[in-house]
Amino acid sequence: MKKPINKNTKLVHLGRDTKASKGFVNPPLYKGSTVLFPTVRSLYEGGYGYNYGRKGSPTYEALEQALNELEGADETVLTPSGLCAITTTLLALLKTGDHLLVTDAVYQPTRSFCDTTLKDLGVETTYYDPRIGANIKDIIQSTTKVVFMESPGSQTFEVQDIPAIQAAASDRGLTTVIDNTYATPLNLTPLDMGVDVSLHSGTKYFIGHADAMIGTISAKGPAAKAIRKTAHSLGICAGPDDVQLALRGLRTLAIRLKHHEQAAIELAQWFETRPEVETVLHPALPSHPDHALFQRDFKGAAGLFSIILKPADQAAIERMLDGLSLFSMGWSWGGYESLVIPFDPRSYRTATKWPHKGQALRFHIGHEDMDDLKADLTAGFERLANDQS
Ligand code: PLP
Repeated sequence: MKKPINKNTKLVHLGRDTKASKGFVNPPLYKGSTVLFPTVRSLYEGGYGYNYGRKGSPTYEALEQALNELEGADETVLTPSGLCAITTTLLALLKTGDHLLVTDAVYQPTRSFCDTTLKDLGVETTYYDPRIGANIKDIIQSTTKVVFMESPGSQTFEVQDIPAIQAAASDRGLTTVIDNTYATPLNLTPLDMGVDVSLHSGTKYFIGHADAMIGTISAKGPAAKAIRKTAHSLGICAGPDDVQLALRGLRTLAIRLKHHEQAAIELAQWFETRPEVETVLHPALPSHPDHALFQRDFKGAAGLFSIILKPADQAAIERMLDGLSLFSMGWSWGGYESLVIPFDPRSYRTATKWPHKGQALRFHIGHEDMDDLKADLTAGFERLANDQS
């Protein structure tokens, strides 16, 4: 029997057709709106298989096919941003009078979309404890249609029991959606666990260089059809340059992600030894409360984690962060560069109480030298200590 092809190999070969590219390694970049047809008949019957720029091109198809294969999806829809992947999916699956269940650890703009646009459309949202597991069955209402997961939560890192939530949801015929940006299809394939929709901010690890934005929605069955239909009716499409950058990013995703993973684990362990740090929130560390669940379901970790500092003077913490030279502050992650942001879950959580008092900081670990990163942080902690005294 032939050995199944490893995902790392697939990343290199998917979405490539050497003959169609006339020998060039990479597929050509098709940019365009208008597609020309030689006859009236072909105008209606479809000449070369494409109809209009918004509705697809060989460049789109190359990325869509690669992601279908990686996620095990029937269809992948490309969107101009990760948030647009989330909003398009929810608009496709919900209508007035429906009820939606969303993890309390969800990416904040997802929450804001539910609390504003969906609310205005007459869709009600209930936030649930990310660690609810099988007990989600107790909060499913007669009007509940969709369960939205994000695991681990991209600031607070609770790991969800996806199989337990999936089982309860499918018992009641609900559609399940997961924001899979953290894991990428290399570390988690939710569709194999029965989840209907796995979506990504491809802006993060697919693109990998912080120089473009894209969202991807990979889905199975009726959900896939509904999402494609809504995306077409809303006129959703991604820019061809960004699609090509995402496909290019996939070629090196495995090695980049491995480096992010190893560097983040090393730094998270280092933070555990620091007296200034109260808690490290990294699901790949044995100290994390959901470590067993993470090990059961995920093949690996990303470069993202958080720490909670011991209570300290707020202005001194800000000066400590302002003085870092290698960790920049920015509302993103997944690029080659190290990032840090302070955050406060008390300001947005509704279903669960955030137990920590100290300042929470989220780190994304890039490809800089580890000793340089530790030196930058050590100098930061020294600044903090001198500022307090
Ligand atoms: N999902 C998660 C977990 C994110 O962290 C982000 C962005 O930070 C998004 C979705 C939104 O992606 P985009 O910035 O591409 O709209």
